[in-house]
Amino acid sequence: MTASDLIVVYRRLLESFGPQGWWPLSSLAGSGSFDGRGYHRGDFSYPRTAGQRFEIAMGAVLTQNTTWKNAEKVIKKLIGCGLLTPRAISRISLAELGQYIRASGYYNQKAKKLKILSDFFLKMEGRSSGYGQPAREQLLALWGIGPETADSILLYAYQLPHFVVDAYTRRLVARLGLVSGGESYDQFQLLVTGRLPREYELYSEFHALIVRQAKSYCRRKPLCADCPLRSGCNYFTAGEV
Ligand code: SF4
Repeated sequence: MTASDLIVVYRRLLESFGPQGWWPLSSLAGSGSFDGRGYHRGDFSYPRTAGQRFEIAMGAVLTQNTTWKNAEKVIKKLIGCGLLTPRAISRISLAELGQYIRASGYYNQKAKKLKILSDFFLKMEGRSSGYGQPAREQLLALWGIGPETADSILLYAYQLPHFVVDAYTRRLVARLGLVSGGESYDQFQLLVTGRLPREYELYSEFHALIVRQAKSYCRRKPLCADCPLRSGCNYFTAGEV
């Protein structure tokens, strides 16, 4: 498979798994086009409000080093307690917030990250519509926000074409033979985005599909027999399975 085939990979994944409806919004679960967990398949018009953008940004931090299920539990709890606003998070004590978000793991660190990010949102408030639009460098300057989280926020909360690179993406793209491995985050991102149209909807769906594929087939120990990307995959062709 050559690097120019990335769009073919995308199409095959979309055909196999269908639209994924990321980023889920728990606050809208079960309403309108949202399913019971807040996924909105094929509808890229969300988020629409500052509150929804903030929910996604909080989720991007909460899901660091844990599953979305754990992060989702916390998001629902914060919503239920009326705490999912920058002002509420800023006001609550670090220790108390830590107890609310315990289920997401690393809760002391994450409580600090959430408070820093909430303060940042409050500072952006009023600059333009909603909480304003952060620059990538501004997010990266915040403690606890690395490139993957920053790009997740920019892509899913602000609908900007920032391709998210995570461990799943690195593993899949390396096995397909599209990168040599060992690239920095930014180098890897450039290699991928250089071969794709720069479109928010495409990046948004592609990342979600990669996660789905990597969980279903391209696991640490890959399940290649039924993988939709088998034909043309270097790893499979080389007989490493
Ligand atoms: S064929 Fe195997 S190694 Fe290749 S992408 Fe699919 S699961 Fe991963």
